[in-house]
Order: sequence, then C-alpha cells, then structure tokens
Amino acid sequence: MSDAASLQDFMPGGQLAPEPDARPNLIGLDRDGLAALVKDMGEPAFRAKQLYHWIYNRGAARFEDMTNLSKAFRAKLEETCRIDRPKVSMHQKSKDGTEKWLLRYEDGNEAEMVFIPETDRGTLCISSQVGCSLTCAFCHTGTQKLVRNLTPGDIVGQVMLARDALGDWAQTEEAGRRISNIVLMGMGEPLYNTDSVMDAMRLVSDGDGIAIGRRKITLSTSGVVPDIRRVGAELGLSLAISLHAVNDELRNRLVPINRKYPIAELMDAVRGYPGLTTSRRVTWEYVMLKGVNDSDADARTLLRLMEGIPSKVNLIPFNPWPGSEFECSDPARIESFLAILHRAGTVATIRKTRGQDILAACGQLKSESERIGKRERLRLDALRAEKEAAVGL
Ligand code: SAH
Ligand code: SF4
Repeated sequence: MSDAASLQDFMPGGQLAPEPDARPNLIGLDRDGLAALVKDMGEPAFRAKQLYHWIYNRGAARFEDMTNLSKAFRAKLEETCRIDRPKVSMHQKSKDGTEKWLLRYEDGNEAEMVFIPETDRGTLCISSQVGCSLTCAFCHTGTQKLVRNLTPGDIVGQVMLARDALGDWAQTEEAGRRISNIVLMGMGEPLYNTDSVMDAMRLVSDGDGIAIGRRKITLSTSGVVPDIRRVGAELGLSLAISLHAVNDELRNRLVPINRKYPIAELMDAVRGYPGLTTSRRVTWEYVMLKGVNDSDADARTLLRLMEGIPSKVNLIPFNPWPGSEFECSDPARIESFLAILHRAGTVATIRKTRGQDILAACGQLKSESERIGKRERLRLDALRAEKEAAVGL
C-alpha cells in the first residue's frame, strides 16, 4: 500500500481499488481517429482499416484475436490501448423477455439500456446522458440532475456490449440479427448532446462497421428545434418527437423546453425534416395522462397539427413513479383517443408496456417504489428551477 492510499482506494471487500487504466480506449474512435493512432505507432495506413473492421464489425474485445495483424503490432496495441465496454452493474430479464442493464462507466457513473425483443424485430433502447438536461413533468429522469453527457465511446459502447451480451456479432445479415433497431429513448435528451450522439450514430450506422441502418435508428427528442434541423441535414435518422400536448399552455408545463421552442416552431422543423414519406414517417410520442391531455378534443387538435406531415402516433400509457403527480388514462379513454386518430386514417398504436416487472418501462429507469415526502418535493422543485435556468428556460 502506498503512503497516499486513502479510504476511497479500498473496495467494499477490503481490496485496494485498481489503478485507473491510462491506456486510451479505442471504442468511439472513427476511421480518422484510428488512422491517426496507427500512424503514430509507425504502422502502415491499411492497418487502421483492419483495426476498424475487427473492433466494429467483428466485435473483437481483445487484440490477440485480431489474427491478420502481426504479432508484434498486436503486442504493441495491447501495451498501449484497450477496447473496453462499459461494465455491467446489474442485469435483469423480465418475464416477457425484455432485458435491462445498468451500465457503469469508468468514472463510476451509470446509465441504463433496455433490449425489447419482438417477433419481427429487436429494439435496443440506449441512453445519451447520465441524468437529463430537461425537466419534463411526467418523466422520472427529469427529476435527476444532469450528471454528464455520454461520450461517443460511451454511447457506441452500449451497442457493442449489447451485441456481446446477446451473442449478436456473428450474424452478418441484418435480418438475422437480434438487435435490428435502435432507439435513443433511454436516459437523457440526445439533442442536448448532439455532437456526441451524431458521432456515435455515424459509427453505429456505418455499413463496414456495426452496420445498423440509419432508418432503423430512431432519435427521440423533446423538441430541441435547431438540432432537429441539424440531425436531419447531416444524418437522416428516423425521428420521434415527444409531443405530449397539443397546445402551448399545457406543453409549457409538461415539456418545459416548449417555452423556448413552441409547438408552431417544432411543427415547422418537423415539416422540414428531410426524407419524410408515407413509408418513413415521423413518430409522435404522446403519453396518456388522465384528465390532462387525453380528451377527444385533444385527439382532434392533434390531427390538425399533423396535417400534411407523414406521421404515426405512439400513445404511451403513463408509467407512474414515486412522487409523480399524474395518473395513467383509463384504457377506455386511450381506446377512444386512438379511435379518433384511426377514423381519420392516421397510423397510430398504443405502446405496449414491456418489462414492467423489472422497471424497464419508459420513464421508469432508475425508479424505486417508495413515495416521497415534503422535503424531497422541495428539493426536486429547487433542482428543477436550477436545471431550467441552465438551459435558458
Ligand atoms: N429525452 C428524449 C428521449 C428519452 S425519453 C425525449 O424526451 O424524447 C423517451 C420517451 O419516454 C419520451 O417520449 C418520454 O416522453 C417518454 N416518457 C418519459 N417518462 C415517461 C413515463 N413516466 N411514462 C411514459 N412515458 C414516459
Ligand atoms: Fe429528459 Fe426526455 Fe425525460 Fe424530458 S422526457 S426529462 S427530455 S428524458
């Protein structure tokens, strides 16, 4: 033990904590990043392409498995770099097959990831931030402070870990893969971490690498208008908008970013989103809150707002969490709302709640089951004010 060792150096089991690994993690580096690394190591440029292929296409987690690289180069890589995924703090599997992982990054921060298998596809729901910049009234993540943005490596690392865990690297055909779709619907607002999310999605969608097509990746945003335009112009991912209310007064309360980018501006940005057609629609997410946003009149206003935009609506039964001030609409109310949309010819579905027994459903990530007291409520109010000031609301 060194003189400098302090209590924090000890793991709960009493062992000395390992030294942080100073070798750079290659996950998150793109072709250019790997090219620069390979050049620095005095290796020929084509080595970068091989390395890229091993890391992102084959999913190699160890340099020693990269059999077409020279032994000497492999040893040099081992000495100076690593290809580490996030660690798994917790893994749970629901009765319905949904799986949830709590991932731990090197700085000790944690984020959640969920895999939702369906008959015709498998969707991986990933996080973009630890916590969230925003404070939507019905969302549990909104009550947590923003701890930090995830880096491109942290984000791509989620997908790579999921492929490891699901044995999903060996498949080459997209149809044969367990993870066919990705949704950025975990913790965080992806468009308050736009650069890292875009870098990560470039890597995930690259046909020579992880190769999940851009249309199969859906970015869900609460409505950061300028960045919707940017993502549309530069990447062309599928888009989902967390609308949740059809007038500004209510949306200002439910989705406070609406005070900065009101509904009319949001609609303009979506209308201008490149590539929207009837085979590639924007998804409007709409959480069903009893007596708040679930009337027939709301459904009719929603139809008017979407006019002329290739759309599908996803009605999300509200998932309660400790201290939440809302209730989920009654099933009959949700059906009636849905029927109005259907009668107008709109594509609309009710999102099935998956993984409820492991608290993997939307807005439940990191929830516990107790109620909160007055002091906790005051603390949350203060945190909300602080977060809103930080994003200029
Ligand atoms: N920040 C992004 C993506 C993450 S939230 C966004 O807001 O779009 C993913 C989806 O879950 C959003 O549509 C969000 O509004 C919804 N959601 C959040 N809390 C929920 C809850 N308690 N019940 C149901 N849906 C919820
Ligand atoms: Fe953040 Fe999305 Fe939750 Fe709003 S709904 S607080 S943007 S994670």
